Amino acid sequence: MSAARVRRALLSTVLAALALCAPSSPVWADGSVTEITDLSRVERIAGELEDGPLYVHHDLRDRWTDNSLERVEERLLSEPLVDLEVRVVVYPSVPDDETAGRPALFLQALHEVSGRDGVYVAMTGDRRVALAAFDSPVRLPDVDTDGLSPAHDSRTEQVLDLVAQAPRGSVASSELTADVPPSDRDTLQRPRGDAERFWSAALFPGALIGLALMAVRVVFSRPPTWRPPGWQVRWLLRSWAALRELAGDPYRPRRAPNRAWRWWLQPVLSRELRRLRLLVEAAPENHPGRDRAVQAYDAAGLIARSPGLPPQAMVCAVVVARNGAQSITHPDLPLREPCQINPLHGAACRRRREYAHRRRLRWWEVCTRCSTKRLDLRFGPLTPSLPLLVDGRPHHYRYAKDAWAEAIAAPKHAFARIRKELEV
Ligand SMILES: [Zn+2]
Repeated sequence: MSAARVRRALLSTVLAALALCAPSSPVWADGSVTEITDLSRVERIAGELEDGPLYVHHDLRDRWTDNSLERVEERLLSEPLVDLEVRVVVYPSVPDDETAGRPALFLQALHEVSGRDGVYVAMTGDRRVALAAFDSPVRLPDVDTDGLSPAHDSRTEQVLDLVAQAPRGSVASSELTADVPPSDRDTLQRPRGDAERFWSAALFPGALIGLALMAVRVVFSRPPTWRPPGWQVRWLLRSWAALRELAGDPYRPRRAPNRAWRWWLQPVLSRELRRLRLLVEAAPENHPGRDRAVQAYDAAGLIARSPGLPPQAMVCAVVVARNGAQSITHPDLPLREPCQINPLHGAACRRRREYAHRRRLRWWEVCTRCSTKRLDLRFGPLTPSLPLLVDGRPHHYRYAKDAWAEAIAAPKHAFARIRKELEV
């Protein structure tokens, strides 16, 4: 054997030995949380889990009954699962989502984002199950999904049984396991718009009425007596067209109370946040306004989850959530400062001059509804204003020295200001 061959043989033996001695790479070496480019959904779900240990995505909600949701939630909040801090996420996991359809990686991301230890259970729309424990005494079992019930709710309960009966040991984190690849059947349904829902509901009754009218026409046929539509019909058609135009306009004026009442602001903020969430989830990844909308959702959501804040913070959250929705529905239109008389009225589209005797002339940016009324700047129960109390005295939002009022007046920088204010 030549010296060169001996050297090559020795070299390959040494390399093979080194490869064997090297620490074995984990199963998820090809996927880690740092590779996830968009954590917005993970952050949203982590936020929802702060309110309760069970999260069910709205697309999969119809596979659960109210009773089964309550039952699982009750189990999670009672012994022994509450000690283990078990959280359950039921969500659609598809090949083109943030983790390429890998629920175990999703749980890892959820743990990193929320920073909360415990046991995480993921149940995907196509009935895959993933478990992960972080700094927990429980030794998670291998779940044989073939032996579980096909129904979502009882399958989840069976998995919770396994977790509750699992052996305990010293506190440790479980190793990440490889996921079963997602099936093609679990497609993420985009939420249907109001118009689509209306037309699909109206289709069948409409067809029935149409058939009945045709039958009447055939039975009682008379010579045609058509005349051009009168002014009433034309007025109705014109009003209908104007109404439809108004509904699609992001700058349209809205009705709002003259005081920042929490009982009014709370449901309005929840509704705006829900609408924004549906819009963000339905928007494609490359939508130009998506990042701004996600920022707005996070900022408004932070305020909604902080009950100790003053009412002007909730006014700010409503304005920010509406701006976020506009960046999805009308990404080409600029964000406008809200009405200076009452920020809850919506965008300011007109200017009005303040008439004050022997005082500097001032212009007010107001919404279209305020612009058609007398510009009355007094604070009263019937005047269109929203007083902001600073040091016990009422001010208009444009003059108040208040961080929330300033965040409302600068829609482009609102997100940064809110984060600064909440110190997050
Ligand atoms: Zn107004």
